[in-house]
Amino acid sequence: MPCRRPARPRPILHAPLVLTLSVILIAVVVLEAGDHLGGRVSQVEGLAPWPVQLGPEFIHGDERNLVKDLADARGWTYRTLEWPDRYYFAPGHADGGSTTAPGGSSSTGLVDASIADESDADVAECHRLFADLPGVPAEMANAAEDFSAEEWLRDVVKASPRVIALAESLYANDFGCSLRTMGMRETAIEQKCWCYGEKYLVLNRSLRDVAEALGEGVETRLRARVAEVTRERNLSETGEEGPLLTVRGERSNLGESPEGVNGAPFELRARRCVFAAPLGALGDDGGSEDDDEEEYSKEKASSSPKPSSSSPKPSSSSPKPSLTDASVVSAVRFVPALSASKRAASRVVRTSNAVKILLAFDEPFWPAGLWDVVCVGAFLPELWILDFPPKPTGPCADAAVARRTKAVVTFFACGDLADALTREMSREEVLERALAQLDEMFGEHAGEPAPSRARLVDWRFHDWASAPHVGGAYTHPSVGAAGAREKLAASEWGGALVFAGEATHAGVNPCMQAAMETGIRAAEEILARVSIDDRGREIPTRSR
Ligand SMILES: Cc1cc2nc3c(=O)[nH]c(=O)nc-3n(C[C@H](O)[C@H](O)[C@H](O)COP(=O)(O)OP(=O)(O)OC[C@H]3O[C@@H](n4cnc5c(N)ncnc54)[C@H](O)[C@@H]3O)c2cc1C
Repeated sequence: MPCRRPARPRPILHAPLVLTLSVILIAVVVLEAGDHLGGRVSQVEGLAPWPVQLGPEFIHGDERNLVKDLADARGWTYRTLEWPDRYYFAPGHADGGSTTAPGGSSSTGLVDASIADESDADVAECHRLFADLPGVPAEMANAAEDFSAEEWLRDVVKASPRVIALAESLYANDFGCSLRTMGMRETAIEQKCWCYGEKYLVLNRSLRDVAEALGEGVETRLRARVAEVTRERNLSETGEEGPLLTVRGERSNLGESPEGVNGAPFELRARRCVFAAPLGALGDDGGSEDDDEEEYSKEKASSSPKPSSSSPKPSSSSPKPSLTDASVVSAVRFVPALSASKRAASRVVRTSNAVKILLAFDEPFWPAGLWDVVCVGAFLPELWILDFPPKPTGPCADAAVARRTKAVVTFFACGDLADALTREMSREEVLERALAQLDEMFGEHAGEPAPSRARLVDWRFHDWASAPHVGGAYTHPSVGAAGAREKLAASEWGGALVFAGEATHAGVNPCMQAAMETGIRAAEEILARVSIDDRGREIPTRSR
């Protein structure tokens, strides 16, 4: 093992690129405002005999997927699943109209996805529309000339209400938003860039292990909230070796509050910084949203080809953003301020909320083998049921937990619905309606009208908009945002400030592998600017 020589630390706000940087013996320190490595990869213990995932659960795709590669390299096992597994069509869901001609086949109740995909004309039509994206031109004159999925389905392709209801549950919810806020140009970019395959993989262990594996051997400071990054001196101007950036912050006081630590300031000097916090942390460091959006649109207008006469009518105005809770996100101040184009891009790429409602039961009452249901016309749009090997330590290992929880149903709701669930309903009301939905879906199979209540042993409601330092779920294809992610990814301050994180993925991919890819891209950007000696150490600028 080579000895890691201490050098000036190069702060990094949470990113898998630490692996890439640390193997060449550049001193790296990860500053993480939260209490664990992995950020949105987070879990709740004590609900089930395994850690229940609050954030990501699936490895999306088994091709070119860095998360899968890491799992394979570690010899970790996983299950491979086909998504969706089933659909549930609630009573009355097609009242608004359907593609299916009278007398044709339109599914009701719980149906195998493979059967509905073949036999239900609306399901087939919904898949066809999202595969072919008719009427969504690859290029439009400027970023403002875009339209939402809702406008596209209703006004451009004139889909039936049942197809639109399907698209809301099947596509928009999966993209982490609502049809109203889903931008079609970014949807087309996502489709073009997706190269990972369609399989869903579930690791037979917590995804927390992935985050911890990525952080191995790297100096990490948890509960270290960065408040300001300042460029003190421009290295290329002076040609001298010396501190370039100052990173100031304080020990974080959101979540746990260890005595004597809260608010304690820290300061670090570094040559370069990779900023990999969620979008909200870019904050608002000058300029109005209108100015920035105008600037972004103008810039796009001058660089994009003119629209063809067949282009569909663009959205008249940007959709109102979904509500995310800015008060829980720590905005970082940059001195000097970030470029106007970066600030503008951070406003057009949107993050919606997502809610997970986790219901623990002492026995299953649904069909054996069922693992995922996309629900159409029901209260909540999707549920899944996953289990993991029991965890031998911590609150999960409590024998009482293992006795009482045999299965956990996870309901997943995003976008406008997530906002409504968090802001317009009490948690108890959400619970009641979620249980009523389960009864409606599985009562017939269970042979009793209300199987869920008597079997419920515990539950949680997790609202991502109020998650400290994250303030939302993940970025989604956003109206008017085509091209903005390249701006989010662009380095600043002559390459001293580099950006990573899912929002900076040019392929509009908000998944874990995308976050990892952006980390590698950021590491490569840094390495392109440093010289390494034959022992893998950075050659100081003065002696180059
Ligand atoms: C409910 C939900 C379900 C999801 N499902 C899936 C899935 O099944 N599969 C999948 O691949 N992806 C899924 N995702 C998306 C996936 O979680 C993200 O794409 C990925 O984790 C993002 O990684 P990141 O490093 O960009 O950001 P994060 O993981 O959010 O890391 C950013 C870190 O920055 C920290 N930070 C913020 N501000 C500061 C500051 N001022 N100073 C220091 N640190 C700061 C935060 O605490 C956070 O830890 C899901 C996400 C959610 C929320």
